[in-house]
Amino acid sequence: MGTSKHILLLILVRRILSVTVLLVVVLTALKLSGRGAGRASLPPRVDAADREARSAGLLRSDSVLRARESTLRRIAESDTYLPAMLAQSDSVLKRWPDRIANPLLVYLPEGSAPGYTAELGQAARKAFSRWERVAGIPVVFAFTRDSGRADVIVRWIPEFPLERTGQADVRWNRAGWLLSGTLTLATRNPGGIPLPPDAVYTVALHEIGHLLGLGHSDDSADVMYPTTDPRDDLSPRDRRTARLLYELPPGSLRS
Ligand SMILES: [Zn+2]
Repeated sequence: MGTSKHILLLILVRRILSVTVLLVVVLTALKLSGRGAGRASLPPRVDAADREARSAGLLRSDSVLRARESTLRRIAESDTYLPAMLAQSDSVLKRWPDRIANPLLVYLPEGSAPGYTAELGQAARKAFSRWERVAGIPVVFAFTRDSGRADVIVRWIPEFPLERTGQADVRWNRAGWLLSGTLTLATRNPGGIPLPPDAVYTVALHEIGHLLGLGHSDDSADVMYPTTDPRDDLSPRDRRTARLLYELPPGSLRS
């Protein structure tokens, strides 16, 4: 209760400040035009269009600020791991735009890496279909045989040299919109032991979470925790976090 009251106060102060800023701009503009009219010898006064553009700029930056604060407030009040994600990363929310009508094209080839079996491919496919069934995420996947057209490329490797069984590399633009991704999945653990399909399913679930813009969870009950045992499904918190991410505008939340 105390916190939300404090937040409300902040909003009020901000509104008053923004009104003050606008008033000052209007007053300054009036003064300038008055002076200009009085003394013909002065340099040309600030042109009206320029003044309007400047006050529009102020309004815009103020509304951007307010939007950012409302986003931060929703994140802070949510039961998700978005706060943990923002603390680990550069405070940039990244996600895909709506990709329902225009599905994300995934190139998921049969692996040629030693240890690859068709069951591993099916496990990866199942992980994609699990994520697209999470309500509230406007992203669906379609598989393509053409790697050149794909938004997402899956690579199979025998094993990572490090303590790792999967990796996601994603690209995004300055506005925080994701552009493309590569998922690398191993067929064996770093000790050379073949990974069963349920382990590959869990690793793929985790890496597709990154592909969708999620970072790491701070709770080992979630699939997005940095290390995890094989599991059947995403946690409710994984789903809530992804859903909230897709309700928020992407981009930087740094002040
Ligand atoms: Zn990870």
